[in-house]
Amino acid sequence: MKDFFKNKCEVVRDLLPLYADESCSKETAKAIDIHLVTCPSCRDYLSEIKSYHDDSDVSDIPDSDPHFAEVMNKLRKRKIVRRSLVSAAIITSLAINAVLILTND
Ligand SMILES: [Zn+2]
Repeated sequence: MKDFFKNKCEVVRDLLPLYADESCSKETAKAIDIHLVTCPSCRDYLSEIKSYHDDSDVSDIPDSDPHFAEVMNKLRKRKIVRRSLVSAAIITSLAINAVLILTND
């Protein structure tokens, strides 16, 4: 796996959104790390992804790269779902604690 992504920019770029989101396996991340050391254009692509990663609006994404826009939209939707699940878990936990405290007499 070490040199798996050598000269495989297309594959790496497909995986970079997952890499930036820390959603890929450690093994994949390691292979991407190795590729990034030797590939300035993929490094640029990664910093572009990271700059759009958190707080950008969909309209900020340049029209020049529809694939990039599509990938970022998918990532954003996944992130929203994940945040909702975390919020639901926290609310459930707080509700259980509240019930336990209120019924603890
Ligand atoms: Zn590359």
